[in-house]
Amino acid sequence: MSKTISLLGATGSIGLQALDVAEKLNYTVAAMAAGSRVEPFEQQIRQWRPSLVAMADERAAADLKVRIADLPTKVTAGPDGLCEVAAIPEADVTLNSIMGVAGFLPTLAAIEAGHDVALANKETLVAGGAVVTAACAEKGVRLLPVDSEHSAIFQCLQGRPPQGKPQKLILTCSGGPFFGKTKADLEAVTLEQALAHPNWSMGLKITVDSATMMNKGLELIEAKWLFDMEPDAIDVVIHRESIVHSLVEYADNSVIAQLGVPDMRIPIQYALTYPDRYPSPVKPLSLAEAGKLTFFAPDHETFPAIELCRAAIKRGGLYPAAVNGANEQAVALFAAGKLPFASITPLVSRIMEQPWGEATSAEAVLEADRESRALLLELAEA
Ligand code: NDP
Ligand code: MG
Repeated sequence: MSKTISLLGATGSIGLQALDVAEKLNYTVAAMAAGSRVEPFEQQIRQWRPSLVAMADERAAADLKVRIADLPTKVTAGPDGLCEVAAIPEADVTLNSIMGVAGFLPTLAAIEAGHDVALANKETLVAGGAVVTAACAEKGVRLLPVDSEHSAIFQCLQGRPPQGKPQKLILTCSGGPFFGKTKADLEAVTLEQALAHPNWSMGLKITVDSATMMNKGLELIEAKWLFDMEPDAIDVVIHRESIVHSLVEYADNSVIAQLGVPDMRIPIQYALTYPDRYPSPVKPLSLAEAGKLTFFAPDHETFPAIELCRAAIKRGGLYPAAVNGANEQAVALFAAGKLPFASITPLVSRIMEQPWGEATSAEAVLEADRESRALLLELAEA
């Protein structure tokens, strides 16, 4: 069945792969959004001819408007523009692959418009899971996970009986570029080393998050909201080959896993075509070629980010929003050469020392985000 989508974060790693999937499925793209990079976005607009586009950066949007003056496409800008794209009435589904908490309000706008949301933008759920899941329940729309681990769990849950809630979710984790390293080894890590992910080619922020293992901590919180699980019922296991994408354990200790070659086009496609399945450009998995699959317990001493996130979601309220905001700020500082890699998680942890309120509204979530970024900046300068 052909569908019409709205795509936020079109120029990013997930956005590009989503367009590849959309092309092969013969989907229409009604609206698209990007951040600030005009040139790649213009090319995509010329190819896909959406009726509406937005750029987060106002000046970039003004530049784009001039460049595509020959097209009937409407250009909008800033957070309101992103929300307009997310909510475009023609879309059957909104795919949100914006980087960071900037994706939060557009996700809410899509839900408000009654769209199912294919969600790659995990920061939306980490920061505002309570607000987002309440909005979904009210509007009767679905969150369809794009993150590979959550897509795996979602797939493992298909066909379970109504009383068949799992007793445990097991998230797999590649271990990133610094698997096996000690705390001392991490002292001198460069940006280039942090960006050399063994199995996945992704945007800068998630690649750094994978190196600190904050990504897996954020995914633990994401899983809590997507699957309504207690944080202590979500385990993490290191799996270097990234072939088993995650697992579900039922009451009888039977464990179901989803496997495939590491290629995001499989989870992106499943989120878009759910509950149906169609042929994919991704190559089939050959277990004989893979040879062996290995598993290890995470090293929480060297990589405390997973347990930090578990503690944040167990405290609840705005703690996860604060951890997420502080982490986004810390990663930006590291990328700008202003913070050592080894300081990221310890500084983010200090956010937990102060009280954060309840996640009663979208405004409260965004306020905690702003406050935690400011606090992180202060801590980094101290
Ligand atoms: P990229 O950095 O490659 O792309 C980010 C996209 O978001 C770009 O289109 C960028 O536009 C846009 N963007 C950046 N800042 C803003 C902003 N403030 N407002 C609006 N748009 C903005 O990231 P990824 O594609 O790697 O990741 C996107 C999301 O998907 C993240 O939440 C990540 O955690 C998640 N994810 C990614 C995976 C992957 O394999 N890449 C796997 C699982 C989840 P511009 O190009 O103009 O800067
Ligand atoms: Mg993931």
